[in-house]
Amino acid sequence: FEAIPHSRVTHVDLPDPEVTGVTWEKGRVAIGIPRDGYIQVAQLGPKGADDAVRARGLDAFRADAAQLFPEAAAGVTGIGSTADVKHLDVRLDRLRRWHAPGVLCIGDAAHAMSPVGGVGINLAVQDAVAAARILAPLLRSGGASGRAEARALARIQRRRMVPTVVIQGMQRILHAALIMPTIRGRDLRPPSWVVKVVRRVPWLSALPALAVGVGPRPERAPRWARRPS
Ligand SMILES: Cc1cc2nc3c(=O)[nH]c(=O)nc-3n(C[C@H](O)[C@H](O)[C@H](O)COP(=O)(O)OP(=O)(O)OC[C@H]3O[C@@H](n4cnc5c(N)ncnc54)[C@H](O)[C@@H]3O)c2cc1C
Repeated sequence: FEAIPHSRVTHVDLPDPEVTGVTWEKGRVAIGIPRDGYIQVAQLGPKGADDAVRARGLDAFRADAAQLFPEAAAGVTGIGSTADVKHLDVRLDRLRRWHAPGVLCIGDAAHAMSPVGGVGINLAVQDAVAAARILAPLLRSGGASGRAEARALARIQRRRMVPTVVIQGMQRILHAALIMPTIRGRDLRPPSWVVKVVRRVPWLSALPALAVGVGPRPERAPRWARRPS
C-alpha cells in the first residue's frame, strides 16, 4: 500500500476548509481529495440531482465546479464532456441473508455502505478477514459442505452483522443530521462548543479515527495468514 501514490492526513481541523478540503455554499457542498498531480472533487447532491446537473450542460458544470472549488478552477477545462463526470449513487442497505450453499456475500455485496465516515472499505476488509478465519479450517479439512458449511456461513453473518448495523446506523444519523441539512443550505461548521472542547482536549479528535479504523468489532488476521515480518 505504501508504494501506491497517496496523500497522508495527519490531523483535521474541522472549521478550516483548507485542511479538510471541504467547501460549501448555501446548498452546495464539495469535497476535494488531493491525488497525485490532480485534485479529485466530489460534489454532493440529493437523489435525482444528476439528471438536472447534466441537463444544464458542460459550461454550466465547469463554472459551478470552479466557483465551488477555486483550487480546481484551472483544471475544469480538462473536463471534456459530461461523460467525464461520474455519478456515484449512494445506497445504504443490507441483505437479510448473506449466504446460500456455496455462496457468501460480504462487503458491499451484503451491505451497501455510504461514503460518510470513509468506513465501508474497512468493514469490507474486516468481513473478509472474519470469513477467511472461520472458513479456512473447514476448507482445509475438506468439510465445506452440507450442515457444517451452512453453520460456518451463518456464523460469519452473525459476527459481522453487529458492526454493520452499528456503522450503518451511524451513517443514517449523519445523513439525517449533517449531510441532508447541509445540502438544503445549512452551515456545515460544527457547533462552536464542539470546536472548543476538541481544542482543549486534542486527543478527543482521535476518537472518530479509532471508530473508523478499528470499529465496533475489530478483526485480526490469524497468525497463519500473516506474512513473515
Ligand atoms: C461515492 C462513494 C464514495 C465512497 N467513499 C468511501 C471512502 O472514502 N472510504 C470508504 O471506506 N468507503 C467509501 N465508500 C464505500 C466503499 O466504496 C464500499 O463500502 C467498499 O468499496 C466496499 O468494498 P467491496 O470490496 O465490498 O466492494 P467494491 O469496492 O464495490 O468491489 C467490488 C468489485 O467487484 C467488481 N465486480 C462487480 N461485478 C463483477 C463481476 N460480475 N465480475 C467481476 N468483478 C465484478 C467491481 O468492479 C469491483 O471492483 C464510498 C461509496 C460511495 C458510493
